[in-house]
Amino acid sequence: MTTPLQQRWAASMMDNYGTPPLGLVSGSGAVLTAEDGRTYLDLLGGIAVNALGHAHPAVVEAVTRQLSTLGHVSNLYVSEPALQLAEELLAHLGHPGRVLLCNSGAEANEAAFKIARRTGRPTIIAAENGFHGRTMGALALTGQPGKRTPFEPMPAGVEFVPFGDVAALEAAVDADTAAVFLEPVQGEGGVVVPPAGYLAAAREITTRHGALLVLDEVQTGVGRTGTFFAHQADGVTPDVVTMAKGLGGGLPIGACIGIGAAGELLQPGQHGTTFGGNPVCCAAALAVLHTLAADDLLAHVAALGKELSAGIEALGHPLVSHVRGTGLLLGIVLTAPVGPAVVAAAEDAGFLLNAPGPAVLRLAPPLVLTSEQAQSFVDALPAILDRAAETSAQGALA
Ligand code: PMP
Repeated sequence: MTTPLQQRWAASMMDNYGTPPLGLVSGSGAVLTAEDGRTYLDLLGGIAVNALGHAHPAVVEAVTRQLSTLGHVSNLYVSEPALQLAEELLAHLGHPGRVLLCNSGAEANEAAFKIARRTGRPTIIAAENGFHGRTMGALALTGQPGKRTPFEPMPAGVEFVPFGDVAALEAAVDADTAAVFLEPVQGEGGVVVPPAGYLAAAREITTRHGALLVLDEVQTGVGRTGTFFAHQADGVTPDVVTMAKGLGGGLPIGACIGIGAAGELLQPGQHGTTFGGNPVCCAAALAVLHTLAADDLLAHVAALGKELSAGIEALGHPLVSHVRGTGLLLGIVLTAPVGPAVVAAAEDAGFLLNAPGPAVLRLAPPLVLTSEQAQSFVDALPAILDRAAETSAQGALA
């Protein structure tokens, strides 16, 4: 059965995401309403963009006020919201540096790629199974070969090492290495958390060889893992940090931050983007940062993430092996490759999540998810998993 929005989609939109399961019409907090009036708990929107949930009054007010005061002019000029955002991001980072504002995660990583090239060294090391975006530079850094091969040849010079393996990194990095690109937690790769001490080892190895450490915090940043940047829990200082997604509270904004000397590598005229630093998206991002602090959301995220993963593991369901991840970036590791069937059963039951791999489910809800909402998912999960087991078994027999 196709809905009215799905029919129009098929006639007009390029088919690169597959048929959309739902057409959405409105949202409030962590709850979404679809075209047929059904409501869903959004356990996924955090990866898409939404730190504060849908239609958060602080974001609505900031955007409305800014758009009616000064919209965007050109990246040649600067505005108070852009400067304030850069200053506040550096304050969160805790190091002096320079911020390049852009419009997406891939674009932030393109800037980081160019910064790496500006070292004059030929090689970049990235992680197998990593994800950095769909534009050609970001794709060249993405350690999932199936995403790269249809678009080869890639920009040259990128080598991959297994994620979380210190010895492999040690063997790969040398005087030719411009930069090592890593996600603190691999999000698209299935919420893969490296062994404790991995980022610190990466920092030590890159420093010893004079290479940059670039951390892609597009998915992990802005409080998702319970600290403002995920790397802060590891006590490391990178050279470059990229971010996007939750930063804009639903509006498109990204940032590439060069710390210390890394912030000086791009020279005037070497990079740019028309909408970078536009006051409206910067105002939205400032509303996100201020609400995170005012509502003590980092503590909420850390506590609720523990509660949610403990609740799921305590179900003792045979399809659940364990839960990995931190804060509100969690991967439910399954004992069988029924991820897509669980996603479908969850949607039927009114919960939106996704399966970044056949046997892993990802939870990345808006950070304002309440304890009651999280519990409603835990309560519903056994029936969802049973249903998925049933439909998968039927599929196998058919
Ligand atoms: N880096 C990471 C770690 C991501 O998870 C993503 C998006 N899933 C990107 C970069 C790309 O971000 P965008 O879609 O905003 O270009």
